[in-house]
Amino acid sequence: MKIFNTLTMHKEEFVPLVPGKVSMYVCGPTVYNLIHIGNARPMIVFDTVRRYLEHKGYEVNYVSNFTDVDDKIIKAANEEGVDSSVISERYIAECKKDMEGMNVRPATIHPKATEEIPYMIDMIDTLIHSGHAYPKNGTVYFRTRSFGGYGKLSGKNLDDLRSGFRDLKVSGEDEKEDPLDFVLWKPKKEGEPSWQSPWCDGRPGWHIECSVMSKRYLGEQIDIHAGGEDLIFPHHENEIAQSECASGKEFAHYWMHNAFLNIDNKKMSKSLGNFFTVRDISEKYDLQVLRLFMLSAHYRSPLNFSAELMEAAGNSLERIRRAAARLNDLLAANAENAAGTDDEAKIAEIRAFVDKFDEKMDDDANTADALSVIFDLVRFANINITEESSPAVTKAAFDTLNELCDILGIIALKKEEMLDADIEALIEERQAARKARNFKRADEIRDQLKDMGIVLMDTKDGVKWSRK
Ligand code: AMP
Ligand code: ZN
Repeated sequence: MKIFNTLTMHKEEFVPLVPGKVSMYVCGPTVYNLIHIGNARPMIVFDTVRRYLEHKGYEVNYVSNFTDVDDKIIKAANEEGVDSSVISERYIAECKKDMEGMNVRPATIHPKATEEIPYMIDMIDTLIHSGHAYPKNGTVYFRTRSFGGYGKLSGKNLDDLRSGFRDLKVSGEDEKEDPLDFVLWKPKKEGEPSWQSPWCDGRPGWHIECSVMSKRYLGEQIDIHAGGEDLIFPHHENEIAQSECASGKEFAHYWMHNAFLNIDNKKMSKSLGNFFTVRDISEKYDLQVLRLFMLSAHYRSPLNFSAELMEAAGNSLERIRRAAARLNDLLAANAENAAGTDDEAKIAEIRAFVDKFDEKMDDDANTADALSVIFDLVRFANINITEESSPAVTKAAFDTLNELCDILGIIALKKEEMLDADIEALIEERQAARKARNFKRADEIRDQLKDMGIVLMDTKDGVKWSRK
């Protein structure tokens, strides 16, 4: 697979540090409010990259943090008169609901900044001891000039940056040795959450959080670090400086950045007020439509949100779902058909769609083109899979369509239809267990179904079921 690496500005062949394994860190949201659909773009895009890497056989360790200590969280907490953890925990829970709705799989681990403070203090201490950082009146600054590689990700030149800073007197930070230096640790203010440290009671700067959480859960060197393109500078540039000065090793090998989700060609953001939350969208659309809309553009191209494009995505989703439902019906209807003499060739023709799909995704996760391959398969299946098709060929088409959709996180067959089949299979198993006088198993199944909200009724026509 080729990945466009922001560090080199080239598409490069992906070679993991450890064969067969991928370590991936994606900067997560600051949790002070419901996430907006701009925040949802990196979630959907990098969840898809993860799914694709797994499809290729890699074991992916996927870490995505929650920034749960921040000025905006503190402000929201003060406004409500509650502790800032009340705000962050509330919006972490809401964010997880939105992720589930968008079929974004939970990360292998979701670390929270506030639970990693001792490790941040350790890294800051290491940086001070090696001369890359210095404390001044309780605040600790990173000595930017001490890192020769500063600017390598963003392509910024230190002297240009410095002249830009000349007139900028940052209040309270004029004690810095150099305007380019940035904060690793800051003293607490009245009413703010704080932790003890060798320098003062205070809290970490934002950049050190990600360097530390990445190191702790993935090691000093990782394969992929990702986020939205607004994070390239200063966040990711600063993460590189901190991590590489602390470890003496290259931090992340591949840097992936998604372009913005725009509205009227302007970045959707909380501060501009031009946003829709994922929750707003879920009231109007199935969130699968949002996912398909996001994947209909390449992740490095800006994407403009509009009702027309959402409608188009809705129609596309419907087309996929109709094809999947039709294949599902044919699966049952064709079960008794004879095997065809050319089954093998037909199955090979169907499986070739997987190769075409992989070819598109291998090219820097081109989900837009990968989606067109799914539509080619839909068209093929609509024409070629009929009541006359053999069971094996029908199944190959059904499975391939589901497999490709699943890599993109698109649910081709609506859950309920899937569930109905599962429920019926369990009921059958229960009947068989009762016949075999295995009442323990039969009761287990009844309880399992009950937990899923399924009520069984024994009638003279057999077992009937309903949802609570
Ligand atoms: P934040 O909570 O602002 O730190 O953002 C969390 C993630 O969402 C980061 O990876 C940002 O780069 C990303 N992000 C924020 N706004 C947008 C947007 N309009 N389009 C795409 N990504 C965004
Ligand atoms: Zn980060």
